[in-house]
Amino acid sequence: MVGLRVTRPRLSVLQVLAERPHADVDTIVTAARAVHPTLSPQAVYGVLEALVSRGLARRIEPAGAPALFELRVGDNHHHLVCRSCGAVADVDCTVGAAPCLTPSDTAGFVVDEAEVVFWGLCRDCRVGNPSETTGVPEHHDRRGVKQ
Ligand SMILES: [Zn+2]
Ligand SMILES: [Zn+2]
Repeated sequence: MVGLRVTRPRLSVLQVLAERPHADVDTIVTAARAVHPTLSPQAVYGVLEALVSRGLARRIEPAGAPALFELRVGDNHHHLVCRSCGAVADVDCTVGAAPCLTPSDTAGFVVDEAEVVFWGLCRDCRVGNPSETTGVPEHHDRRGVKQ
């Protein structure tokens, strides 16, 4: 029964990540604590770090946005990020094998991963703001607002 205590936070976090790919830390803490109110935010952070360091979860860090976590690891996929609402969508790496992008000059590095973030407006934001399809400021970003 001792093992159950140890794994419960991890199972809670894994469940949250399975239901909400690309969730930020605040979202994960809130969702995990909704299921297990005794979980401390620190416990959730610790679990996330452990999952990432063991390759069970992936951390992505779009510029200017909070770090996001997902369970889809090891396939070197990329992301689309909405500048307006922060929605994130996966982009499959469909051409060739990882890293699926080849630098014009590797400078002697052995490259095993490429990370690309495509920025734009998602479908919902385009529909809501048809005039904002162009000329959105580079740092226009509302992701920091707590849900
Ligand atoms: Zn959007
Ligand atoms: Zn993803």
